[in-house]
Amino acid sequence: MTALKFELGADGIALLSIAVTGRPMNVLTPELLAELAQAVERIAGDAAIKGAILTSGKPGAFVAGADLKDLVTAFDRGIDAVEASKASTEISALFRRLETSGKPYAAAINGLALGGGLELCLACHYRVLADDAKTVIGLPEVQVGLLPGAGGTQRLPRLIGIPNALPLLLQGKQVKPAEALKLGIVHALAPAAEVVAKAREWLLATPSAEQPWDKKNYRIPGGAGPMAAHASQTFIAGNALTSANTNGNYPAPPAILSCVYEGTQLPFDTGLRIESKYFGKLLAGAVARNLIRTLFVNKGAAEKLASRPQGVAKSKVAKLGVLGAGMMGAGVAHVSAQAGIEVVLLDASLEQAEKGKAGIAALQGKDLAKGRTTQEKIDTLLARIRPTADYADLAGCDLIVEAVFEKRELKAEVTAKAEAVIPATATFGSNTSTLPITGLAQASKRPAQFIGIHFFSPVEKMPLVELIVGKETSQETIAKALDYVAQIRKTPIIVRDFPGFFTSRVFGTFTQEGLRMLLDGIAPALIENAAKLAGFPVGPLAVSDEVTLSLQQSIFKQQDADGLDDKYRGRIGRPVIDKMVDELKRPGRRFGAGFYDYPEGGGKQLWPGLAQAFPVKAEQPEVEVLKQRFLSIMALETARCFEEGVVVNPIDADLGSILGIGYPAWTGGTLSYIDTLGAKDFVAQCQQLAQDWGERFAPSPWLLARAAGGERFYALAQAA
Ligand code: NAD
Repeated sequence: MTALKFELGADGIALLSIAVTGRPMNVLTPELLAELAQAVERIAGDAAIKGAILTSGKPGAFVAGADLKDLVTAFDRGIDAVEASKASTEISALFRRLETSGKPYAAAINGLALGGGLELCLACHYRVLADDAKTVIGLPEVQVGLLPGAGGTQRLPRLIGIPNALPLLLQGKQVKPAEALKLGIVHALAPAAEVVAKAREWLLATPSAEQPWDKKNYRIPGGAGPMAAHASQTFIAGNALTSANTNGNYPAPPAILSCVYEGTQLPFDTGLRIESKYFGKLLAGAVARNLIRTLFVNKGAAEKLASRPQGVAKSKVAKLGVLGAGMMGAGVAHVSAQAGIEVVLLDASLEQAEKGKAGIAALQGKDLAKGRTTQEKIDTLLARIRPTADYADLAGCDLIVEAVFEKRELKAEVTAKAEAVIPATATFGSNTSTLPITGLAQASKRPAQFIGIHFFSPVEKMPLVELIVGKETSQETIAKALDYVAQIRKTPIIVRDFPGFFTSRVFGTFTQEGLRMLLDGIAPALIENAAKLAGFPVGPLAVSDEVTLSLQQSIFKQQDADGLDDKYRGRIGRPVIDKMVDELKRPGRRFGAGFYDYPEGGGKQLWPGLAQAFPVKAEQPEVEVLKQRFLSIMALETARCFEEGVVVNPIDADLGSILGIGYPAWTGGTLSYIDTLGAKDFVAQCQQLAQDWGERFAPSPWLLARAAGGERFYALAQAA
C-alpha cells in the first residue's frame, strides 16, 4: 500500500495510518480511497479484527481534503455534472460502507481535518481530536464554490443540529478543538501524541458500530422532528444570510441549503444521493472552476513565480531603502520589515521619516491589543526600520522602492541621489501609480535595473504587487523584483509599461462607466447597487469620492499635457468630474463632500443634490444591464491590454483584476469572464451594449477575430 499503512495489533485493533506519498499534506487521492476500500473489506471480513483506528502517519494534518490541483485537472478535461456526481457518489458509498460495515471505527485526528478529511472523520463512530493551537477542523468547500460532497451536508446537521451546522457549511467556518468539542463534532480532546491511545481505549471499552442516524427513532438534535418549527425558521435565516452575502452570484450556498433542507427530511441514503447531484452541478459549473483556478491554483503558482525569467540565480533582499515615508512608503517598509528585511526609511526630513515609522508602531500596537503579536516581536520589527534623511544611509541597499510625491522632477531628483550611494548591482523600483516607467528610468544611470513596483493601498492588507517592465528593464531585474515580492509574501503580476499600467487602466473604465451612468440619467442609488449586486466591493461613485475627484481631474490634465491618445483614457465621465469639482465644489470624501455627504458623526449618504445636477430619467434600465456594463467594459479593456501586449499571461490579468481592483471573484477575473461566457457570446453582448450605450463597447477587430475562431484566453478553459 502506498497511501495507507495497515497494522493489526495483538488486541485485535487495526491501526490505519494515512500517509499519502508525493504530496506535502495528506489529501484524498484515488489511491488512498482505493486502499481504504480494501482495508474496510478486510476488517469487515475478519472476525478477529474488533475495530479500527484511522489516523495520520504524517505530522501536521490528518487529511486536508481534496487537492485543488486535481480539481483543475478535472476541469481542464471538461468534467461534466454526471461524471462529477458519480465521483461524489463513489466516495459517499465508501464512507457509508465504512460506517455500516458492522465494525466500529475511531478517528484519531492528530492534525487539521478539512473538507473530505473531516467528512471521513464524520463517518467514523468516534472522534478524538488533537488539542493543540494549530489544529482546526471544518468544511471550507463553499469558499471554492463547492459543497461537501462526501456526506458532510448530511452527517453534520444530523450530528450537531441544523442551526449549528449551517455556519460551518454556508460560510466554511473552521473551528478550533475546544469549539469542536462544545458543538459535539468530536467526542473527546487529547494531546496529539495521545489521540491514538484514546481511540483505542474507546474501541476496547465502549465500542459502537452504529451511527446515531442509523438508530431507530433517531431525531435531528435541536428539534422534535426533521421539520420542527424552528428548523424552518433556520432555513429562512439561512436563505437571508446566503442571498445577502452572495447576491445570487455564487451557486454553492443555495445548493448547500437545498441539500440540508431536502436531505434532512428524507432517509439518510437518499440525502447522500441529493448531495451528490448538487455537488456534480457545482463542480461542473463555471464559478467553482473560476474561483479555484484563479484564487487558489494560479495565485499559488504566481507566488511560486512560474513566470520568473529562467537562468537568473535566486536573490534575496537583505537591506531595502524606501524613499518617502508617507502612506505607501511606510506600508512598504512595514511589510518588508515583517519579512525580516533591514529597512532604511528616508524622507525629506528626519522628522517626516520618524512620523512614518511611528505610524507603523501604531498599527503594530493595534495588533498587540488584539492579541495578534507580542511586544517582543514588535521591538524586533521596529529595530529593523531606520528612519533617516541622509542618503548616505542607503549604502549597501540591494533594492530601493521609491514612494515620494507623484511628481516626475522630484522622482528624478531622488533617483539620482540614491543611485550615487547604492551598489552598482542594486535594483531600483518606483511605486508610481501613473507615470510611465520608461520615462522615469531616464533619470537613472542604469535603466536596465529600473522597474515599476506598484503596491496597493493599504499595503499591509492588499495582496497584489504589479511589476511594470520598462523598455530597458532587464530579465535579471524582473527576476529580482519577483524574488522580492515572494520574500514579502505578496502575489506579483507582470505587465508592460503603459499609461495606467494594467490595473489603474482597467479600474478607470469601471469608475468612468459609473460616472457616465449619471449622464445617462440613471438614479445614483441604482448605479451603486448594480455594482454591488455584480459583486464589486464598492460602488463607482463611492470609490471616486475616496480617490478624490480633484485628483482624477489633475490626472486628466496631466494626460492632456502628455498628449495621450484619447481611446485609452477612459474619460467618458470627465464632464461629471469637471462639474462636481469646478461648479458644484464637491471634490471628494477628503473635503467632506463628493457624490456622497459625509456627516460629522460618521456614515455617508448619497448627496440629494445629485438628482438635480444630473437629472434622473423617468424610465430606468434593468439592473442586469448595468451589471453587464460594469463587467463588460472592464473585460473589454483587459482584452485590449492583452491585444496590445500590456499583459501577456491571462493569469496576470485575472489575478490583477480580482486582487488589485475588486473585480468580482466569482468571475475568475476579467479574462475568465470572457472565457466563461465564450468569446462569441461576449462580443455579441458587447455589440448590443454598443448599440444601446455607446461605441466604447464595440469589440476590436482583433477580439472579433478571436471570437469568430472560437478561441479562449485560457486555451484549456472549458465552456461552462
Ligand atoms: P504621501 O504623500 O503619503 O507620501 C509621500 C512622501 O514623500 C511624504 O512623506 C513626503 O514627505 C515624501 N517626500 C516628498 N519629497 C521628498 C524628498 N525630496 N525626499 C524624500 N521624501 C520626500 O503619498 P503616497 O500616497 O504614499 O504616494 C507615494 C507614491 O506612491 C506616489 O508616487 C503615488 O502615486 C504612489 N502610489 C500611491 C497609492 C495610493 O493609494 N496612495 C497607491 C499606489 C502608488
